[in-house]
Amino acid sequence: VYEGPVQDLIDELARLPGIGPKGAQRIAFHLLAADEIDARRLGEVITRVKQAITPCRRCFNFAQGDFCRICADDRRDPAQLCVVEDPRGVVAIERTREYRGRYHVLGGAISPLDGIGPDSLHIEELLARLGDEGVTEVILALNSSHEGEATASYLQDRLAGRGVRVTRLASGLPVGGDLDYADELTLGRALLGRRDLATG
Ligand SMILES: [Zn+2]
Repeated sequence: VYEGPVQDLIDELARLPGIGPKGAQRIAFHLLAADEIDARRLGEVITRVKQAITPCRRCFNFAQGDFCRICADDRRDPAQLCVVEDPRGVVAIERTREYRGRYHVLGGAISPLDGIGPDSLHIEELLARLGDEGVTEVILALNSSHEGEATASYLQDRLAGRGVRVTRLASGLPVGGDLDYADELTLGRALLGRRDLATG
């Protein structure tokens, strides 16, 4: 092991997703060799993002203050609600420039193996919004993974009989691919070509 603070840094970095022990060591060495001002800036942005960013009180997107940029924009159409797994989905759909409604961020997808059930997600809050905001269409824009599919079919059941149109993005997205990997043209087409789901 390395000197205490060096090993602490490697251990913290190794806990991050997608960074193994080797990668953690490489980043730690990079930071040790970097100018102090650059290393300090990194520390500051991490501190700042944790202080400044909270979940939007309406849609659970990232927000600075009570509401996110989109919820705070009164030009957005409250009748359309696009349901995504996390804020990456919001950014992906926004990039298409084909959508003027609001969003609802679930905070993940149903995954029994990981112990994530419907209760772990912002589903009750979604249902509450339907009446409160006069929603007429819910667009399910979930990832095309097993978890995304399971979540879509659960939501389809829960949204049945509530007087809202429920649609899904047209297929054509890479299978198992996250929304943020789809290019904006493909995603824009999938949005425009969305299909209605039977909701009984
Ligand atoms: Zn919001």
